[in-house]
Amino acid sequence: MRSRFLGFAFLGALSIMAGGCGETTSYRLNSTTESEKPVYVRLPAAMVTKDFVKSTGFNRDHAKNNDFAIGWLSSGVMNHLNLKDKSQITRLDELAVTEGRLNPFTMERTELKFDEPTPAEDYHNYQALTAELRRLADAHPEIARLSSIGKSHQGRELWMMTISDQVDQAEGEPELLYIANMHGDEVVGRELSIYHIRRLLNEYGKNDRVTNLVNNSKMFIIASMNPDGFELRQRYSARNLDLNRNFPDFTSDDRDTSTGRGVETKAIMDLHSGHHFTASVNFHGGEVCFNLPWDTKPNRDVEEKFGDDTVLTSMGRAWADSNPTMEANNSFDRGLTYGYEWYEVDGGMQDWSIWYRRSMHATVELSYTKWPSANYLATAWRENQEAMLAYHERALTGVHLQVVDERGAPIPSFEVSVSSANRTVRYDNGIAHRTTTSGPQTVTVSIDGRSVAQINTTARPFDGRFDRVVVSKK
Ligand SMILES: [Zn+2]
Repeated sequence: MRSRFLGFAFLGALSIMAGGCGETTSYRLNSTTESEKPVYVRLPAAMVTKDFVKSTGFNRDHAKNNDFAIGWLSSGVMNHLNLKDKSQITRLDELAVTEGRLNPFTMERTELKFDEPTPAEDYHNYQALTAELRRLADAHPEIARLSSIGKSHQGRELWMMTISDQVDQAEGEPELLYIANMHGDEVVGRELSIYHIRRLLNEYGKNDRVTNLVNNSKMFIIASMNPDGFELRQRYSARNLDLNRNFPDFTSDDRDTSTGRGVETKAIMDLHSGHHFTASVNFHGGEVCFNLPWDTKPNRDVEEKFGDDTVLTSMGRAWADSNPTMEANNSFDRGLTYGYEWYEVDGGMQDWSIWYRRSMHATVELSYTKWPSANYLATAWRENQEAMLAYHERALTGVHLQVVDERGAPIPSFEVSVSSANRTVRYDNGIAHRTTTSGPQTVTVSIDGRSVAQINTTARPFDGRFDRVVVSKK
């Protein structure tokens, strides 16, 4: 009954548009509407104005092109567009585009040919993913722990692998998070997450860089946030939610609550309630680039940009420079882009994670084809394996504080600002790890906005040692 009622309400709102140039409605195909599966379409880029997006709920896809935009419209919206608009819209064979058999811009169909060798292994469906993650956790019980952060709409586990030297203990180390496959048909990140986990586990004790990471951080890797979407070969969750439009948007929503959102979104939000991720990434496909915040608002001036823009941009530069395909993407700045300047995303994980949960988060697009043949996975791994390691490594360099009162008790909540960046970040339980640019840092510790201590230190990779800041009670 509920979805029926919503369908009725939105069709009523849309009919206002039928006249074409009349009043636009405030209707949005918002993320909590359980509408039918949206239709994948191509339309002239010029048609996709802010008003068009606002009134139709057009959900733009990642691929970049100057002449056309591709994305999703609900079929209800399609039916109610005026004839002129409708005539400019081409329905696309979504699976053919997803698999790289149809170029949505030229409409050319191609037979798939591969230079890459026969794949060493195929994609892991839910069953295979579950078995492989269990196998890896069982083979490395001292440093790996497999857990589920919740269940998908159709009841699949949302697996998370935790990797650290004392994996079951709260050690106060920097926490780093990778999330893949929130769009169910963007699947390269899901496989690279498995490969990355394997590498961390297999090379611990043999490779100094890996050993150092495992010893001095806690890594959390979620290979699939949308396992239902993977099985259904679709972007959306099984409830037809675009999970990357499903988070609280700080420019329009000041309630950081999971009420009414998808269960997958809720699971990620709940996970963040128990952790403060120093740095995090979510992986997508359909483009090859490193996408910087903000997605939901402009990034023109220094004041508008994310306050840790300098360091995150340098981390993005390092990612793109180690990936020849990304570095060669000149439709962006050698593989780097600000989200909003590409296209606006409201309700995305990236901005939510930064704004509401104080992480340093970027969106990384891993492959032009969302679901390439498994032949391509070896290339994708070769081009990203260094970046996946280096990003975690780089995130460990910064300031590392233990903030205590005169009796040595941890300060439960405090804020940290550094001289090399423009934002103040709140931390809990007496410990702060903040990734910064290299070199000297003047660090200011505040409680409830009131400065209580200042120290001079130098950014360094975390090695278990902290700068101790004693806050006197006065
Ligand atoms: Zn995506």
